[in-house]
Amino acid sequence: MKKYRKFYVIFLSGMLLCLGGCGRKADRMGDSAVHSMDTAMGTMVQQTIYLQDTQEKADQADGEGQSQSGAVTDDVMEVIRRLEEELLSWRLETSEVYAINESAGDPEGILVSPQMKQLLTRCREVSEASSGAFDITMGRVVRLWNLDAWAGADNQLDYRLPGEEEILSCLSGTGYEKLDLQENRLYLPSDLQLDLGAVGKGIALDEIQETFSQKQEVAGAIVSVGGSVLTYGTKPDGTSWRVAVTDPQNTAAGIGYLELSGQWCVSTSGTYERFVEVNGVRYHHIIDPSTGHPADSGLDSVTVLTKDGFLSDALSTACLVLGKEEGGRLAQAFQAEAIFVDHEGNVTMTEGMGQYFHLSKVEK
Ligand code: ADP
Ligand code: MG
Repeated sequence: MKKYRKFYVIFLSGMLLCLGGCGRKADRMGDSAVHSMDTAMGTMVQQTIYLQDTQEKADQADGEGQSQSGAVTDDVMEVIRRLEEELLSWRLETSEVYAINESAGDPEGILVSPQMKQLLTRCREVSEASSGAFDITMGRVVRLWNLDAWAGADNQLDYRLPGEEEILSCLSGTGYEKLDLQENRLYLPSDLQLDLGAVGKGIALDEIQETFSQKQEVAGAIVSVGGSVLTYGTKPDGTSWRVAVTDPQNTAAGIGYLELSGQWCVSTSGTYERFVEVNGVRYHHIIDPSTGHPADSGLDSVTVLTKDGFLSDALSTACLVLGKEEGGRLAQAFQAEAIFVDHEGNVTMTEGMGQYFHLSKVEK
């Protein structure tokens, strides 16, 4: 691993995260790209789509009306919303996770879809490899802290820290090894609730990539779903994709950027994403399953680069819990690269990351 002191150098223009076009509808910009900004999965979704040259001309000849690229950005939003509503949300009664959680304690278990079965199997693999640092069975502990709900609230002074006894009581029911999946049936213990918040955005990236691959008109695209970013194909001018890495101590800026060609997924988990401050102590939304408290591994953020969205998201969460040494080993075990920013602002990374990451001050 290489070690760098953090420093600030240049302003980077044309970043994904400083898009000019804002609004629910896609806007065609002068550079032939279509940009759109919207919300889904409780976060911001930003897209920049480049169409194949022939499609671009057809759109222009078409004049008014919905352009092909506008339809693509709508399709992307539809993919994310469907995932949330039908599969992943623990809040929405329409989702499979909701039905699974409702089935807790049922001796008959519940039939799961092929997609859910695959997802649970993949989650278990990351849980095992991370010695349980990544654990989707912590629903009750996560709900107890309820940091996602309080993070953006105006009345944070009213936030009540959970007591140690409550934490331990919720924690005692958790454990990925308690998930009993037999054939297509899942048997959930009565005191266990699933929370797939750590992988939802990454799964969305995988499905968006699949959608693009079925649309010949898409030449290139960069899409961010909160802290997870997909790059796809190429830009008309042949330049690389650039993905900013946020500075945890000044989230309006970046510590640098990744320069990428073709299809990649980049996910960042950070203590700055969702948190509540009580008496000067920050309580953030990534929980260490070994303590039931917000992870305290010395890191403020982890950024993971892989070709696979699910993995980038799962690993960034796991690495934030594990810390830089163990986190680095975990990332490499999955052929992923990672950047770690600690509380002092030191930036370290896995060896292979050096070819993609440029350390420099970036304004977002
Ligand atoms: P974000 O949702 O901000 O992108 P993450 O991908 O790191 O951040 O996911 C954090 C979410 O994952 C939490 O809000 C919670 O729902 C869930 N979670 C918290 N701790 C863990 C953990 N140790 N393992 C798995 N999921 C977790
Ligand atoms: Mg994650």
